Amino acid sequence: MRAMVLEEVGQPLALRDLPKPKPGHGQLLVRVNTCAVCRTDLHIVDGELPNPKLPLILGHQIVGRVEQINQSVDGFSIGDRIGVPWLGWTDGECTYCRSDRENLCDRAKFTGYTIDGGYAEFTVADARYCFRLPDELFDVDLAAEAGLAEAAVAPLLCAGMLGYRSYWKTGDARRLGIYGFGNAAYLIAQVALYQQKEIFAFTRPGDKAGQDAARSLGAVWAGGSDEMPPERLGAAIIFAPVGALVPAALRALAKGGVVVCGGIHMSDIPSFPYVDLWNERVISSVANLTRRDGEEFLKIAALIPVKTKVKTFPLEQANTALEKFRAGKLDATAVLVT
Ligand SMILES: [Zn+2]
Ligand SMILES: [Zn+2]
Repeated sequence: MRAMVLEEVGQPLALRDLPKPKPGHGQLLVRVNTCAVCRTDLHIVDGELPNPKLPLILGHQIVGRVEQINQSVDGFSIGDRIGVPWLGWTDGECTYCRSDRENLCDRAKFTGYTIDGGYAEFTVADARYCFRLPDELFDVDLAAEAGLAEAAVAPLLCAGMLGYRSYWKTGDARRLGIYGFGNAAYLIAQVALYQQKEIFAFTRPGDKAGQDAARSLGAVWAGGSDEMPPERLGAAIIFAPVGALVPAALRALAKGGVVVCGGIHMSDIPSFPYVDLWNERVISSVANLTRRDGEEFLKIAALIPVKTKVKTFPLEQANTALEKFRAGKLDATAVLVT
């Protein structure tokens, strides 16, 4: 099978012809149709996440069909359309797993990081962590030739699901700030608006186009991250990997508000006066996802249905997709098509 392989951190991916993997105990063999590119993929390539499996097939937003089923697996049929997310395996027995926080499992394995992922024609995945995909959410291939498609499901599998976990942590806050109005924000804002929340969108200072886009999506206010919103916020989610946004977001909060850092990696947070945290404000991060997050999100995404913006690339052009993403030259989620 064709695969784009990270052989060494800091190096471009190499196109390799590898043997098709065999589904082991509890696993499905998946014929990959599409795999969306995530910022985490860049962090892994750049060595910002410790100890990746090497050589590694990246990719943890996999949409494909079941090609083969290990005899130990029940409940799937050949040809089922499934999604494979970042959380690839947990031990099911540690303190975290037993308290409904499998996202924090000490021995968790992650797709496209500590186990091989979807920048390839085939992958194997633990059936218990695969999602059945609702019919309302489409594969991207029908629109591949056009280059852009709405309601493509691949970007929902990480940007959407982890974004949803961040959103879930904001509880019932009615006024919600979102810092970094990229792909995850675009998806989560649709859920928040559907639930009749007010969105305050913060972009890079001076990014008028980004602010216009947020307003046309339905944000009640959009401005630069150096600005204060017209009203204090009940919660804020930071999707941009910029630590300086944490104190900025804290200052925009009402008493008791929460700042949720939605990324897996962030630059250092500068110091700030205690008074900005005072009055029971909270800073939280979000790590990984639980299967419940994924299922809840897919259900609501199908109901809305959530729109996505994607730009497709052939699998072999994974390096181009990553470089364009890194350079900020994509206004859509890159999706690799096998
Ligand atoms: Zn991701
Ligand atoms: Zn565990």
